[in-house]
Formats: sequence, structure tokens, C-alpha cells
Amino acid sequence: MTKYALVTGGSRGIGRAICIRLASMGYAVLINFNNSPQEAEETLAAVRNAGADGELIRFDVTDREQAETALNRWAANHPGDYIEALVNNAGIRKDNLMLWMEPHEWDSVINVSLNGFYNITRLLLKNMVVKRFGRIVNIVSLSGIKGMPGQTNYSASKAGVIAGTKALAQEVAKRGVTVNAVAPGFIKSDMTQDMDENELKKTIPCGRFGTPEEVAALVGFLVSKEAGYITGEVISINGGIYT
Ligand code: NDP
Repeated sequence: MTKYALVTGGSRGIGRAICIRLASMGYAVLINFNNSPQEAEETLAAVRNAGADGELIRFDVTDREQAETALNRWAANHPGDYIEALVNNAGIRKDNLMLWMEPHEWDSVINVSLNGFYNITRLLLKNMVVKRFGRIVNIVSLSGIKGMPGQTNYSASKAGVIAGTKALAQEVAKRGVTVNAVAPGFIKSDMTQDMDENELKKTIPCGRFGTPEEVAALVGFLVSKEAGYITGEVISINGGIYT
């Protein structure tokens, strides 16, 4: 029987690498995207290249109705199937010092990471519980653990998801559903393109930024059957930055 996984924000960066990783583990991957259809097509091609099935599923994780409609449509086309693995990866940054932070900078970042976690998880959780197997991995951040100046919005959104991860893990553990968070440090992607890598890498014990593929390998392990006794955890992947 085909196993299905959904990756939010699968069009680019870390999300794309996760899609490819899950494909290599035999998952048929639902690649969610919002604004980047062309990049999403590239992810789909890479998923197929890894020997798995995949499909694009467009919705904005902040839009409950849109997400529900898209996932209901998928369910109607896949009677008897369910999505057993969910990676809540979609995220944005809108950095500013709190003194100058505009309401839209605060709201949009919280909406994508924190509300996105709720909006999508609530739609898939019931089937995981009923089928007594599920894997939820939330991509959070070093910022959500230690807090980063200039990122009160982003840090708060990720810290919120970390707390939600720990609470939900306890709610569903007996049903074979694990819920974990992965907290990357500095990873090469569009999101970190504007950062001064040469300066920042001096602060990283490993002396370099990480790659999306390194994050994806950890997510792949947490999704695997072997990781069934790990739940409610926040696992850092940051090149040795002390958290
Ligand atoms: P990118 O900016 O490269 O990609 C972001 C992804 O999120 C895109 O696929 C984008 O899709 C998607 N996305 C954004 N908003 C929405 C939305 N409203 N609905 C659906 N999808 C959306 O970022 P990264 O790959 O670097 O980041 C991935 C995750 O990792 C994020 O949660 C980020 O916070 C986290 N992270 C990243 C770190 C890094 O150093 N790069 C460090 C720590 C955490 P589209 O373009 O189609 O809209």
C-alpha cells in the first residue's frame, strides 16, 4: 500500500530536500507550495527522479479554508488512503527590531509558522490517530530556542510551535503518533541568502552553514519506523552552536 507524506513549503530550500528524502524512503510525496509553482515543479521532478510518486498541492498554510478544500479534494481522490507523515516546514522571516516592528511583520510571521502548524495539523491528525500510526515533524529554529535579536516575531512563532509540539506529543503518543521538532541553525537557502555567511560562520563551531540535505536526513530519521520511541523532542541541527 502506498504511504503518503505531506511537506508544507516543499517548493524550495529545506522543504524541497525533505520531499526528496521522503521520496527516497518510498513515500508518495504531496508537495505543498504557495507562491512558487515553477520551483514546486522542480521539486516534483526531483521526487520522481528519486523513484517515488509525487503530486503538487497548492495552498497558503495561513488560509484555513483553502487548505481544507485542497486536502479534502485530495482525500476524495484517494479513498482509503491517508497521509501518515506531515512535515510542517513552511516559514517566513520578516526581521526588524521590536521598536520598529510593524503589525504586518508580526502577524505574517506568526501566521505562517504558528497558525500554519495548527491549520494543517488539525486536518491530518484524526486519520493518524484512527490508523494508529503517524509522524509529525515541525521545522522550528535555533531562534525559537535561544531567541535572536531582530527576530522577536520569528523567535516567538517558533517557540510557540516548540511548545505545541511538546503538548501534542503527549496527547497522541499512545496512538502511535510521534510529534517532534527539528531546530536548524544557519542553513543555506533563499531564507539566509541575505546574511553575511563569512561573518556568521565564525560563530559556528563547525565553521560553515548547514545544507538542506543535512536537515532532511534528520527529518527522514524522525519519520522512519525506527524513531517510534522519540516524541515531544526538539532536536537541534546547527553545527554545534550551544543551545
Ligand atoms: P525558504 O525561504 O527557502 O523556503 C520557504 C518555503 O516556505 C517555500 O517553499 C515557500 O513556498 C514556503 N512558504 C512560505 N509561506 C508559505 C505559505 N503561506 N503557505 C505555504 N508555503 C509557504 O526557506 P527555508 O527552506 O530556509 O526554510 C524552511 C523552514 O526552515 C522554515 O520554517 C524556516 O523558518 C526554517 N528554518 C530555516 C533556517 C535556515 O537557516 N534556512 C534556519 C532555521 C529554521 P512558496 O515559495 O511556494 O510560497
